[in-house]
Amino acid sequence: MKYCKTCLINDLRPNGKFMKDGNCFPCHYYKTKKINWDARLFSLKKIINKYKARGKSYDCLLGVSGGKDSTRQALWTREKLGLKPLLISVSYPPLQSTELGYQNLGNLLKLGFDIVTIQPAPQTACKLSKKAFLELGNILSYTELALFSQVPTYAIESGINLILWGENVSIQLGETQRLSDDIFDGNHLSKINTLSKVKKINFPSISSKAHLCNYTYPSEKAFKTNNISIVFLGPAIKTWSMLNNGLTSVLNGLKTNLRPPSITGDYTQVAMLDEDFSNINNMIKYYKFGFGRATDYVCESVRMKYISRNEAIKIIKKYDGVCSDKIIKNYCKYINIHEDEFWHVIHKFTNKHLFKTSNKKRPIPKFEVGKNYE
Ligand SMILES: [Zn+2]
Repeated sequence: MKYCKTCLINDLRPNGKFMKDGNCFPCHYYKTKKINWDARLFSLKKIINKYKARGKSYDCLLGVSGGKDSTRQALWTREKLGLKPLLISVSYPPLQSTELGYQNLGNLLKLGFDIVTIQPAPQTACKLSKKAFLELGNILSYTELALFSQVPTYAIESGINLILWGENVSIQLGETQRLSDDIFDGNHLSKINTLSKVKKINFPSISSKAHLCNYTYPSEKAFKTNNISIVFLGPAIKTWSMLNNGLTSVLNGLKTNLRPPSITGDYTQVAMLDEDFSNINNMIKYYKFGFGRATDYVCESVRMKYISRNEAIKIIKKYDGVCSDKIIKNYCKYINIHEDEFWHVIHKFTNKHLFKTSNKKRPIPKFEVGKNYE
């Protein structure tokens, strides 16, 4: 396992790319690209002007969860681009959702936005989560599809053909699979790791196609026929970062997590406010690839020179892989398995080269954060 020489991304990240200079792709990008932000904003406005919906009540669609990124995007779209967006929220099942998520969605309404909420049947969501956990060691693999699929599906049905999306994952997190040359072009989203793995769900116990259609990403042909365009906003926003988005949104009424990071592993307390189980997924990610959510956050801060690499290492050591027993217990109850089975599955997907697994529940890291590990 090799670490980026600037931040702490390691080379085990799926679809990650390391450059010859020893930097990860995002660090290399930030160091070598001189960005003309005015020009970028100009380009974005030109693209939007070309694709925005005409003759409709709304100019574009924006997928939202009610979290920090969606609040920032909604405000920026309205205030900086002068557009009238319709927000689309795909809800988690009640057992997965948090009260905080509902409050923050309510905050968007208070800010004057219109929201369409889509709620896939909870029973299907639960079955799909269980299947994804047992088969792929990723509790969100299938259910996440609804978040990605529902906005373009709604775009096709409503004729509002422009979809604005926040982050370009290639630049922000270093997923470079099928990176498009156009930094604003989000039509290749279906190729990112999350979606490319799960093309078709073969799930006989869900008999109704009506339930599964919530999880089906529209075909390229449907995109073309309906002239659907997904455009990333992040590359035109100079201050676009996970932490800045959190700060701006809090100043506009977003409520943050009051639970300490020792429970959720989220030291920023502004991530994934609307549901609880992604904390488990971040823990699993750590056991699979040697990095968790803390790494994602601090790497960005290191790159932007908010904190030093050494400070970042301390944070990662403390919070990567943290997820409380209570959240795990709730998840086991949700998908109806015993906790022993839960840990059995976790051990199955743990990278044994990086972690020692024993009868004790949680795998123990063999590597030292920040030091290349053979
Ligand atoms: Zn880096």
